[in-house]
Amino acid sequence: MKSLEAVDAVIVGSGAAGSMVAKVLAEAGQQVVVLEKGRNRIVGLGGPTRNLTTLCSNDELKSLRGFHGNDPLGEPRSFRDREDVDRTYVGPVQAIPNTVGGGTIHYDADSPRCQPDDFRMRSLYGAVEGADVQDWPLSYDELEPFYTAVEYIIGVQGEQGANPFEGRRSAPFPMPPGPPKLDGLIVAEGARKLGLHPFPFPMAINSRVYRDRPMCNDCGFCSTGCPIQAMGNSAITALQEAMLTGRCELRPDSMAYRIELDDAGRRVTSVHYFDAEGERRVQPADRVILAGNPIGTTRLLLMSSHSTFPNGIGNSSGWLGRHLTFHVISVTVGIFEKETHPYRGRTITHALADFTVNSRNESDYVRGGIVELGGSILPISVGKTLPRGPLHSLLMRQGDFWKKIATASMIAEDVPVPSNRIDLDPSVRDVYGLPVPRLTYRSHPRDLALMERYNSRLEQIVTAAGAQSVFTASREFLSGGIPQTFHMHGTARMGTDPEKSVTDPFGKFHDLENLWCADASTFVTSTAYNPTLTIQALALRCAASIVAPADPSGILQRLPPLGDGGAERGNS
Ligand SMILES: Cc1cc2nc3c(=O)[nH]c(=O)nc-3n(C[C@H](O)[C@H](O)[C@H](O)COP(=O)(O)OP(=O)(O)OC[C@H]3O[C@@H](n4cnc5c(N)ncnc54)[C@H](O)[C@@H]3O)c2cc1C
Ligand code: SF4
Repeated sequence: MKSLEAVDAVIVGSGAAGSMVAKVLAEAGQQVVVLEKGRNRIVGLGGPTRNLTTLCSNDELKSLRGFHGNDPLGEPRSFRDREDVDRTYVGPVQAIPNTVGGGTIHYDADSPRCQPDDFRMRSLYGAVEGADVQDWPLSYDELEPFYTAVEYIIGVQGEQGANPFEGRRSAPFPMPPGPPKLDGLIVAEGARKLGLHPFPFPMAINSRVYRDRPMCNDCGFCSTGCPIQAMGNSAITALQEAMLTGRCELRPDSMAYRIELDDAGRRVTSVHYFDAEGERRVQPADRVILAGNPIGTTRLLLMSSHSTFPNGIGNSSGWLGRHLTFHVISVTVGIFEKETHPYRGRTITHALADFTVNSRNESDYVRGGIVELGGSILPISVGKTLPRGPLHSLLMRQGDFWKKIATASMIAEDVPVPSNRIDLDPSVRDVYGLPVPRLTYRSHPRDLALMERYNSRLEQIVTAAGAQSVFTASREFLSGGIPQTFHMHGTARMGTDPEKSVTDPFGKFHDLENLWCADASTFVTSTAYNPTLTIQALALRCAASIVAPADPSGILQRLPPLGDGGAERGNS
C-alpha cells in the first residue's frame, strides 16, 4: 500500500458539494486532492481554457445505460422497506451518476433557493408523531449571501420578484430567463386561471454567454448531459476554477474506502483509496471533507469503524445514517388536443410555490412543495413511465401522443423518520469486495396524506390548462416501489447538540477536529425545493468556515469577482 505526500485537504466526491469546497480551499491557497470514484467524461478539464468538451451527446440511450455510472452490477445497492428482512431488492437505488461532476453532469439544473420557512419547520408546524422534525441550526438569512455567490459561480437564470413567496435576495439573478417552453406556458396559464402564481423557474443554464460558456440552444436533452456546456454543471464551473489555481489535483477512478484516525481517535490522518489500476493508496491530509452524497458519505464513515467509534466514525450520537429523506414526488400528466412541444427546450421553464405556504396555519403538517409546470419528454423515458399492460402498447403506438402531453410535478418534503436510514448490507459486496450501502425507507403516513391531498390540486391545474384527459403517477408508481427520486438528504444531520446531531451547523463532525461533511447528509429536513442549490450554498459556507473560521461570510468578498465575462458580448 503506497503512501503519498501529505496535502492540506482531501475532498471525497467531485459533485455539487465537493467541487464548491475545492474551489474555495484552492483559491485560499490550500493544496487539495479530490478523490472521485467515477470517470472523467470532460475533455480538457483543468486545462487553461474554458472551452471544454464533453462526451455527453444528446443520447438518451447512452445515459440510460449508465455512461456516467453508477454500475448497477458491479456496485449495486440494496433496499428494504421494513427492518425485519435483510433486503427485498438489489440493484440501482437512487442511481445518481458517479462521475466527475457527480449528479450535476446530467441533472435538470433546476436551481431554486429554499424559502425561510424551510429552516424552521418544527417551530412553525410542531412535532409529527413517528418522525423527528427539527429546526435547522441556521436561518435563511445566514445562508442568503452564499446562495447569491453560488448563483453567480454556476450561472443561474431567473427573474427577481417573480415568485411572490421567495425569501429576501441581496442581488438579482446573474441572467434573465431564457425563452419559455410551450408546455410550460400552457400549464402556467391553467394555474393562473386558478389564482395561483407561476414564475420563470431559476435554472443553472445560460440564457446568454456567461463566463465564456455559450447560451443554451434549447435542444431539450439536459437530463442526458449538456453537450455544449450551457448548463453550469459543477465540473466545468467550480471544479474547473479550483483546478485552474494549480493547487487542486483531481483523481478520477479513485474509490475511497477508509478514513484513518490517530490513536486518540480525535483527528483524521489519511484517506485510503483504490486508484484507477485497483492499487491501494494512502493519502495523508491535514483535513478531510466528505462530499459523496448521503449514500457515499454515510457508507464511507460506516466502513471506517475505529476502536473509538465501533459503529462508524463520527457516530458517537448513534444518529449517523438515520433520518434519510427522499422527497415526495407526484407527476400529473395531461393529454392535450394540440401539440404542446414538451421535447423542445430546456427541461422546465415555469414553476409555482403556492403550495409551500398555503397550509401555514394547519396543525397536520401537510404542506406541499414546489410544482414544476411542464417538463422534458424523451421517448424512452416516456415508455418507461407509462403504466404497464395493454394500455402501454396502445399509448406508445399512437405516434404523436408524446408530443401532446404537458405535466405538473410536485416535489415536496418527506418527514425525517429515524428508522429510514442507510447502513451496510450484511452480506452483499461490490466489485471492490466492500459491503454495499443498504437503504431502508418506508413512507410516513403524513407523506402519503400529502400526496393524496395535492394530487387532486395538480390535476385541477392541468385540467384548467385544457387537458382532455389526466392521470397522476406518484413516487411508488414511477419507480416500481424502488426509490429513484435522485434527491437524498439527512443521515448526518447538523445541529448544536452533539447528542442529537452528527455535525455542527457548518458541517464539522462534533466528534473530530478535522473532518467535515459538505453534502446533503447534513440537511435537517428535506425542504420543499430541489436540493442542489442549497447543497452548494451549504458547501460554500462549510468551506468558508474552514478557511476563515472567525468570519465565514467575509470570504465571499475575497472570491474572484462574481461578475461575468459574457454580458459585454451582447449575446442576450
Ligand atoms: C436525472 C437527474 C436530474 C436531477 N435534476 C435535479 C435538478 O434539476 N435540481 C436539483 O436540485 N437536483 C437535481 N438532481 C439531483 C442532483 O444531481 C443532486 O442533488 C446533486 O448532484 C447532489 O450533489 P452532491 O455533490 O451532494 O452529490 P453527487 O453529485 O452525487 O456527487 C457525489 C460524488 O461523490 C462520488 N463518491 C461517492 N462516494 C465516493 C467514494 N467513496 N470515493 C470517491 N468518490 C465517491 C460519487 O461518484 C459522486 O460523483 C438530479 C439528479 C438526476 C440524476
Ligand atoms: S437545452 Fe440547453 S442546457 Fe439543456 S442540453 Fe440543450 S443546450 Fe444544454
